[in-house]
Amino acid sequence: MIREALEAVRAEIDAAALAAGRAPAEIELCAVSKTKPASSLREAYAACQRVFGENYAQELADKRAELADLPGLVLRMIGHVQTNKARVVARIADAVDTVDRPELARELGRRAAAAGRVLSVMIEVNVGGEAQKHGVSPDRLGEVLDAVAREPSLALEGLMTVPPHTEDPAGARPYFARLRALRDAHGGARALPRLSMGMSHDFREAILEGSTMVRVGSAIFGAR
Ligand SMILES: *Cc1c(COP(=O)(O)O)cnc(C)c1O
Repeated sequence: MIREALEAVRAEIDAAALAAGRAPAEIELCAVSKTKPASSLREAYAACQRVFGENYAQELADKRAELADLPGLVLRMIGHVQTNKARVVARIADAVDTVDRPELARELGRRAAAAGRVLSVMIEVNVGGEAQKHGVSPDRLGEVLDAVAREPSLALEGLMTVPPHTEDPAGARPYFARLRALRDAHGGARALPRLSMGMSHDFREAILEGSTMVRVGSAIFGAR
């Protein structure tokens, strides 16, 4: 089941890339495995999936331990990180895609340095300006970028967003375009090579707007 679903999603990613005049290899698939058992990640791994997204620090830590025998497994933190969880996340995650405040950048940088590693990060931007959502507001993105740049143990990959929900996935396109425009306003693809945007219901639209990483959960692992 997971293998078939993964293959279908990969085929749709490739088709969306070609429709956008882009090379399919430009788009990475992050399989979002939150709340799913380690056995589901093993199934996906057997179908050649290597990159997974997790939302909760403890769950990520548990899966890291349970799946320690899988070489090349990449576990990205895509959920909100409370400052008191920075230590554990900086030690065990391969990347944190939800840095949204200078304080968290400082704490992750300090903890990654103490662990003797360089942690990949993305900055989460609240492009819709929704009060209940995490992510830095577009006008304060520069402050978080500066804070990340001051941490030698953080490697900045790019920007990430979760747009406001719209019934019609086409409604998300302006928000994806907004993230791309912010990237262009803050150094372009050289400074910020990756754009993480697009989920199960709107990854095709995100690819049309320049996404380089789609985060797909339910379309692969089923409903949560
Ligand atoms: C859960 C989650 C996803 C995946 O959502 P699906 O709709 O299941 O594809 C992607 N990104 C983030 C930040 C999430 O929390």
